[in-house]
Amino acid sequence: MLDWETLESRCKDCQGCQLHSTRTNVVFGVGNKNAEIMLIGEGPGEQEDLKGEPFVGAAGKLLDQMLSIIDLNRENCYIANIVKCRPPNNADPLDEEQDACIGYLRNQVALIRPKIIVCLGRIAARRVIDPDYRITKEHGQWFINHGVYMTAIYHPSALLRDLSKRPDTFEDLMIIRDMMQKLHVKL
Ligand code: URA
Repeated sequence: MLDWETLESRCKDCQGCQLHSTRTNVVFGVGNKNAEIMLIGEGPGEQEDLKGEPFVGAAGKLLDQMLSIIDLNRENCYIANIVKCRPPNNADPLDEEQDACIGYLRNQVALIRPKIIVCLGRIAARRVIDPDYRITKEHGQWFINHGVYMTAIYHPSALLRDLSKRPDTFEDLMIIRDMMQKLHVKL
């Protein structure tokens, strides 16, 4: 396991897959490295690539609002993505791109040792929780893996496109808030 400084500098120099050749910035992650709750998205979009920070575009604004409902923000949780470089045209990251990048996320999780991991959307849930994860059926359910409580909610981009998913996500946020209380997650 690498320390934060070495990990971040390796990641920023990474040429482990084709995405390195089209990136503007590596989007390593943001937030509190001592957080007890971690959020995992899929990969940077255009705005994130330009700024080098996760979830700063339209979906990110919605994510910030969602987090604020359960007293979370960029200072008291940690936010990262499955892939750290933008897939051109906002394509889903390919398996080979995820494979090349997942070690960075694993190392981030090992350093943070969160009590709770919340996956944002199907891609992250399939990579982190279960390769057969069905987001429409299983969002808001808890899975325990190596003592870490894991769940997934709809990706904020999906919530921008489809307002009918928002009530379910509000319920999921309440479920996450309850688990944070139960596990005495410190903010
Ligand atoms: N979507 C993601 O999954 N991650 C980001 O950082 C931005 C948009």
